[in-house]
Amino acid sequence: MPWETIHKDAAPRVPPHLDDYGKARAAFSWSAARAALDGLPDGRGLNIAHEAVDRHAASAHRTAVALRCVGRDDSVTSVTYEELARSTSRFANVLRALGVGPGERVMTLLGRCPQLYTVVLGTLKSKGVLCPLFSAFGPDPVAQRLRLGDARVLVTTADLYRRKVAGQRDRLPGLDHVLVVGEGADDLPGTLSYDALTAAAPDTFTIPPTSPDDMALLHFTSGTTGTPKGAVHVHEAAVAHHATALYALDLHRDDVFWCTADPGWVTGMSYGVIAPLMHGVTVVVDEGDFDARRWYRILAEQRVGVWYTAPTALRMLMRTTPRTGPYDLPASFDLSALRFIASVGEPLNPEAVLWGRDVLGLPVHDNWWQTETGAIMIANFAGCDIRPGSMGRPLPGVEAAVLRRGEDGRADVTDGRVTVLDEPGAEGELALRPGWPSMFRGYLHDEERTAAAFAGGWYLTGDLVRRDADGWYWFVGRADDVIKSAGHLIGPFEVESALMEHPAVAEAGVIGRPDAVAGNIVKAFVSLRPGFEPSTATRRELLAFARRRLGPAVAPREIAFDPHLPHTRSGKVMRRLLRARETGLPEGDISTLEGTEGSA
Ligand code: ATP
Ligand code: MG
Repeated sequence: MPWETIHKDAAPRVPPHLDDYGKARAAFSWSAARAALDGLPDGRGLNIAHEAVDRHAASAHRTAVALRCVGRDDSVTSVTYEELARSTSRFANVLRALGVGPGERVMTLLGRCPQLYTVVLGTLKSKGVLCPLFSAFGPDPVAQRLRLGDARVLVTTADLYRRKVAGQRDRLPGLDHVLVVGEGADDLPGTLSYDALTAAAPDTFTIPPTSPDDMALLHFTSGTTGTPKGAVHVHEAAVAHHATALYALDLHRDDVFWCTADPGWVTGMSYGVIAPLMHGVTVVVDEGDFDARRWYRILAEQRVGVWYTAPTALRMLMRTTPRTGPYDLPASFDLSALRFIASVGEPLNPEAVLWGRDVLGLPVHDNWWQTETGAIMIANFAGCDIRPGSMGRPLPGVEAAVLRRGEDGRADVTDGRVTVLDEPGAEGELALRPGWPSMFRGYLHDEERTAAAFAGGWYLTGDLVRRDADGWYWFVGRADDVIKSAGHLIGPFEVESALMEHPAVAEAGVIGRPDAVAGNIVKAFVSLRPGFEPSTATRRELLAFARRRLGPAVAPREIAFDPHLPHTRSGKVMRRLLRARETGLPEGDISTLEGTEGSA
């Protein structure tokens, strides 16, 4: 293990029992976690919106700020729990008046504005199913998801509707209602005004009985490995959102919390909306785009205590302020309120963990999960040691395993059986024992892919990991991305992390390039930090640097400079696209490629 453990903070706010991982796991049960929630009055079940909003609105916490929205112009709008309870009730009444019944899909195509939160939680109150679409999607990906998800209602803005939906409306016969937020609905045929409808609707609503198994959310995956899948989640997921936010994010009532993920993706929903509101937290909502200065300013001015972000954002901050200094930019902001930083979405290079420690004064806690898992599954916990480069250990209530893999890189399934590898250092496909509350209940309209995700009593994640002797999990790569070179199996993450240690490297994406002799050779695509120019000398230096770190069998043989590595809109390097471009093969589904309007 090349990286030293970072020992736990002196004064975490976590309950004391979390200090002892073994004890915490032994003491935990999902049924106890479920019992810790309120539930609907009179035993009428469990509804996410009740847990996130109504129960606070009915308590002394009603005047606490639920949302603090920072506009593009830096204006700040606050919404209290009480106000959110009223606006969500209005929206639930609108849906009822439109005849939108339980289980029917309501989709959003909205920026991060207060109305988005109202629609999400109002839909859940009414027992509709909410499916968020990322507002930067182009017309094709939008239409594809509206169709795949059987949208009955779409809530959007006049501008987004005109640019992304209007032209395809006649090909969407199931889309009965389009509600337009803000100005412009009157001029758009076939739409209704969200503002007028909600203003006229009553601001109280009694949530109907909700079974924990009722469908609540539909989330499309990021499309990193192929066509996005629509993962179905149910109200019971709230149990996992609540518990995991405590263990993995150290969230507590009255915290100020900022999750930088867009609610169009599962992180922005589970931890940007549901989990923090369940904890009675003040959620910072940034309507703007990434900008290092702006982000530091939000952290400082909003007095953010807990910050949940992503490797790609951290790498962008590292681009402007390397760990070697100078730290002028972050040092010019008062970040003294910040007490916990976590990251998800992609492997977090050890360099980024240490960057946090040195530059922001707090190490970054990596955690791992997927759209399908609905909630954090593996984490460097609050109040526990951190092993930089490791995703951490399974949360209490989560049973993980490493499965032996077969020829194709995925778990070896023979006659429906799999082999669990128990030895220290075992490497294979990461699997989870089904039964945690936020587990997806299937891919919508795709029984085949759903069935293929389970074998031998396990859910197969598609990610390859190594588990060390102490039970920490280390990400190796996606099964599809692992490189077979001259008899070695090479995880792209290890190579990328080594390159990231070089001061010239801002980001790296590593793939296998087909080679007649070796099968594949390791090729790295590298974007450079400001002040460094692509040149033969830089290339030579990086090749030599990687060779020293990784040894000749694993180090890249080729390096190409690429200032714009392809990313998904949720911020992941799309290695499959680098591969396709390298080999001249079709690019496949690029509906989630950042910087384009996308096409399916
Ligand atoms: P698709 O399933 O459509 O290919 P996707 O897997 O990127 O897209 P998500 O569900 O958004 O869609 O992402 C989950 C994946 O992100 C994980 O399976 C894993 O590969 C990666 N990931 C998330 N967190 C981490 C982490 N902390 N370390 C390493 N990888 C991570
Ligand atoms: Mg996936």
